[in-house]
Amino acid sequence: MSELLQNPAVQVFLYALITAIATGLGALPFFFIKNLTRSWLGISNAIASGLMLAASFGLIYEGLNHDLWFTFWGILIGLGFIVLSQKVLDQYDGDFSIKNINKADSAKMLLIVGIMTLHSFTEGVSVGVSFSGGIDLGLFITTAIAVHNIPEGLAISLVLIPRGTSVARAGWWSIFSSLPQPLMAVPAFLFVEIFRTYLPMGLGFAGGAMIWMVFAELIPDAIEETNTSTVATTTTIAITLMIVFQTLIG
Ligand SMILES: [Zn+2]
Repeated sequence: MSELLQNPAVQVFLYALITAIATGLGALPFFFIKNLTRSWLGISNAIASGLMLAASFGLIYEGLNHDLWFTFWGILIGLGFIVLSQKVLDQYDGDFSIKNINKADSAKMLLIVGIMTLHSFTEGVSVGVSFSGGIDLGLFITTAIAVHNIPEGLAISLVLIPRGTSVARAGWWSIFSSLPQPLMAVPAFLFVEIFRTYLPMGLGFAGGAMIWMVFAELIPDAIEETNTSTVATTTTIAITLMIVFQTLIG
């Protein structure tokens, strides 16, 4: 057992698993907030929009640090991918509805959890690649990603809980969305040269898809439940706080 723990690939896996579990912490505030009615949906969506927009640009800037054009093409491919995904989801709209939750909300929740899960693949690659640069760099990047996962779990919970998901389930879905991190960290660590080359494309892909999702799904819903001014103010404040937060941990 202790020999297994000495294995560097196993260590990378375990560190990345901790980052995934940190995502679940984002659901915790909701244990203390009861009676989250549908009227909170607008504000929740606006906060989630701000958190996700800032996170998207964080990914894109990270990609630009590696390679401009790979990041650029990644964004466009991410955009194409999510537009197609939504078309496919629209077609099967009738086939999945989560218990007690209407079809439109089910489709939206699936899309959001799906995209957040996809974007975790690139973060898993970042963790793996960083460990190839030594344990100190690896631990630094892993801690940054773990902490940054908490508001992402919060964003997911803000979307799921006002639509009827329980806090425990929202916590689980938050952790689920980050499970690609331990899964991708190990191959990225072992085959670092290949992954390092394509990392900026993955970062652009995730950023592009998340930005689209904010404008297609979250903002229109937020405006429907409240009003433009409230949404714009809330989103701007959330972006600002997230940028400050990212700068402090980055
Ligand atoms: Zn992220």
